Amino acid sequence: MSKNILILPGDGIGPEIVAEAVKLLATLRDGFGLDIELDEALVGGGAIDATGGPLPDATLELAKESDAILLGAVGGPKWEGLDISIRPEKGLLGLRAALNLFANLRPAMLYPQLAEASSLKSDIVAGLDIMIVRELTGGIYFGQPRGIRELDSGERQGFNTLVYSESEIERIARVAFDIANKRGKRVCSVDKANVLECTELWREVMTRVGAEYPEVALSHMYVDNAAMQLVKWPKQFDVMVTTNMFGDILSDCAAMLTGSIGMLPSASLDEQGKGMYEPIHGSAPDIAGKGEANPLATMLSVAMMLRYSLDEPAMADRVERAVDKVLNDGLRTPDIVSEGMTEVGCEAMGDAVVAALG
Ligand code: NAD
Repeated sequence: MSKNILILPGDGIGPEIVAEAVKLLATLRDGFGLDIELDEALVGGGAIDATGGPLPDATLELAKESDAILLGAVGGPKWEGLDISIRPEKGLLGLRAALNLFANLRPAMLYPQLAEASSLKSDIVAGLDIMIVRELTGGIYFGQPRGIRELDSGERQGFNTLVYSESEIERIARVAFDIANKRGKRVCSVDKANVLECTELWREVMTRVGAEYPEVALSHMYVDNAAMQLVKWPKQFDVMVTTNMFGDILSDCAAMLTGSIGMLPSASLDEQGKGMYEPIHGSAPDIAGKGEANPLATMLSVAMMLRYSLDEPAMADRVERAVDKVLNDGLRTPDIVSEGMTEVGCEAMGDAVVAALG
């Protein structure tokens, strides 16, 4: 039965990079037998302009009916003055919450061809391959109560709540251990159990679930040390699993180890493996419309979609091999270009990947 994929181009460079990913999906459908149907809808700033809100009901309905979602990026200066409750980013948070996409998978992988792009020495990062598993629908970003209140003294006080139930920790633990089982068989759980009771429970549950995976080695690390270790010797990590806020910060740090934000895909999954796939970068308003955005993170997001939601691991490998080939051929968008390489724009890079599919 054919799978429904919802395409959400979004704002800024979103439509440019997503166009290349759609070309890739259409080629896999027409030339390689991938049984999919594509739909498109509005989200983010474009949706605010058209409907008054960042996540129109029609988009949410289509998202619920789809088997997988491909998102470009949302946001931009045009909408920055809006109230936080209706900003473009709320469209994303709304989708994650409504679809219960609790597991965010962010690989930080460094293609050997791009080792020079990292700000770290190449022997520290060459061959880097970390999977960060971030809890995405709980923790301090969603905990209640939250707000800004006025104290009796008249001073204002901001407050948020860090809360995790055992079941929330257990399900993200299983995602991390299952992934580690298919990779390097090591999980590092990151917490702040020396200070935060909530993450004391996190550590306890991780240890309990870890006992069910004797073939996977579990270690624990405080988040401040994890930040240091990521920069000092990142290759020590295989799978890292952590809370929503710690994962937000550590995954950006890990992304920068690779030197190019334009290369990194991500997946956000529910308990059935349905997922939303998106590059980790934003809408890059500074280069929007110039045709120079790097589409590879979005095309690699399609590879993740093939692997995690469409059960097509061979096609995922095919896409990743095609990306590898264009890098070997020396093609580079401006964000990753270096001496001796051939600079190309977004569309030419997309065409080259499609041509390299075989
Ligand atoms: P950004 O990721 O958009 O851009 C940071 C820098 O990286 C910019 O210099 C940009 O040109 C460059 N860059 C990003 N993607 C690139 C690509 N594919 N190819 C080449 N260069 C690329 O982050 P920002 O500037 O902090 O945010 C811009 C807007 O995006 C804001 O409105 C922000 O809220 C939004 N945002 C959205 C998401 C999302 O949709 N998931 C994530 C982060 C930021």
